[in-house]
Amino acid sequence: MTHRSLPRAVRQAMPLAREVAEEVAKQYGVCIRPVPLKRLDTHTGAWEIVDVPCGATLEAKCPPCAKRNRQLRMAQCREGWHLDHEPAITPDEPSDEQRWLIEFRADLQAHRDQAACLGEDASDWDAAIEGVDAEINEAGMRGNVLGRTVPKRNRSTRRRQDAPDLPKRKMTATTLGRTFTGSDGKVYRPSLFVTLTLPSYGKIRDGVPLDPDTYDYARAARDALHFSKLVDRFVQNLRRVAGYDVQYFATVEPQKRLAPHLHMAIRGTLPRAEIKQIAAATYHQVWWPAVDRVVFDGDHLPVWEEGVGYLDPATGEVLPTWDEALDQLDADEAADPLHVMRFGAQVDVQGVLAGTPDADQCIRYLSKYLTKTLGDSLDPDNPAQREHAGRLAEALRWEPCSPTCANWLRYAIQPKGAKPGMAPGRCRGKAHKPDHLGYAGRRVLVSRKWSNKTLAEHKQDRHTWVLEALGQTDQPPPDPHRYVWKPVPAGDANIAPLAVRLLRTVAERQRWRAHLAQLQAQADGQDLSATEHTGRAA
Ligand SMILES: [Zn+2]
Ligand SMILES: [Zn+2]
Repeated sequence: MTHRSLPRAVRQAMPLAREVAEEVAKQYGVCIRPVPLKRLDTHTGAWEIVDVPCGATLEAKCPPCAKRNRQLRMAQCREGWHLDHEPAITPDEPSDEQRWLIEFRADLQAHRDQAACLGEDASDWDAAIEGVDAEINEAGMRGNVLGRTVPKRNRSTRRRQDAPDLPKRKMTATTLGRTFTGSDGKVYRPSLFVTLTLPSYGKIRDGVPLDPDTYDYARAARDALHFSKLVDRFVQNLRRVAGYDVQYFATVEPQKRLAPHLHMAIRGTLPRAEIKQIAAATYHQVWWPAVDRVVFDGDHLPVWEEGVGYLDPATGEVLPTWDEALDQLDADEAADPLHVMRFGAQVDVQGVLAGTPDADQCIRYLSKYLTKTLGDSLDPDNPAQREHAGRLAEALRWEPCSPTCANWLRYAIQPKGAKPGMAPGRCRGKAHKPDHLGYAGRRVLVSRKWSNKTLAEHKQDRHTWVLEALGQTDQPPPDPHRYVWKPVPAGDANIAPLAVRLLRTVAERQRWRAHLAQLQAQADGQDLSATEHTGRAA
């Protein structure tokens, strides 16, 4: 935001100032896309505008926030992998961040409802809400803030996904793996590092299909869309076979051929052959309505009628709703699932021992790509790969990504929660975006009892560490209910230009670092005199 009172020349120089400020901010690891928020201090009654790092709020993270986030993830991975005691899982008092997210979520909902009331397009709000819901879960809160608003559908038994034929051990109530004691009395805590891939869709050379015309893009698209479900099934099967509550920390990464694959740190160990057997037996069925016949296309599209829903433009017939379509599917004895997916034959299983360089290397590997989106692996100078990505994006464009996807209209079904303005091929779901390559799920999948901590608590750890280093731990713990947060309306005149705000944060960081260094020097000095003292006494 530029101040009108500034001379024109200064105003024109501002973008440059901003670039410089961004560079400086990056060097200091300061967020370069801070989100201004209004904060009410309930102790003093004063409102002020505070910059919150983008990494703490929205999903789009600037490079410094992405880097910090990666370091947090590495700490989280390390802490849980070779845990030697059961984690105590108790719900915590909501943190500031959690409460802020809930309030922010409520505001978004109000905006969304208002837009819907006025008959405006609310899809941007929906997308924002979806993002914040994911953040809310990430911040360590479970479930959806609205709770379950509709009763869960009971699928008929015939459609239940049966457990595949696998050995089954008796369940024991532990999350810890076995240990082994060596002849020297040393206790070994082995664990696993597993890589799972999707099957082949056609021959690949240098990351691109040899024959794009026979490469199965539809299957590749569907596998990517439902990848996280297959991972869930794998974990269920893994626990059944292992006979204990196996915990994992996994990341989803793109392969060169643009299919997602999974790296998974598993606590405890199983025979390699069993892991391979589980991967081979794991499958997931997508029980969605069939999409083999395109009914509406081009200009021939269903029309919206207020209070009724989407109609066939020629006959005026109301299209079946999502629930009706599922009921039809349930009633049809001969129906097949829309999609059945499995892992590919390539399964890599590596045994790892706690505290070895191997374990460290795996942790680095697990978090290697976390600062990038899936689509970032695309090489801009490789036309063949660009073309391959284009074909995949085109397949994904028309594939229904979720029950609420606008693409269901193409197959004469009203999407779940249908609203005006929907058109096939223009769903705003994340999965259709080129950056996501069909995978809209989370990049990091962490089981509930991985470590004692949520990501928010790992952040808190770092905060405590700084306070300790500053010698300020004697202070009473901060009052969690002290602050109330509100979004700042766009165009608020009280917000300084970004360059100014960035430099302000950098200055703060400099002061803080200097203070830390000073305290460190003092502490070292004390240590030194203590050593001398002992030296003399000895
Ligand atoms: Zn940021
Ligand atoms: Zn969609």
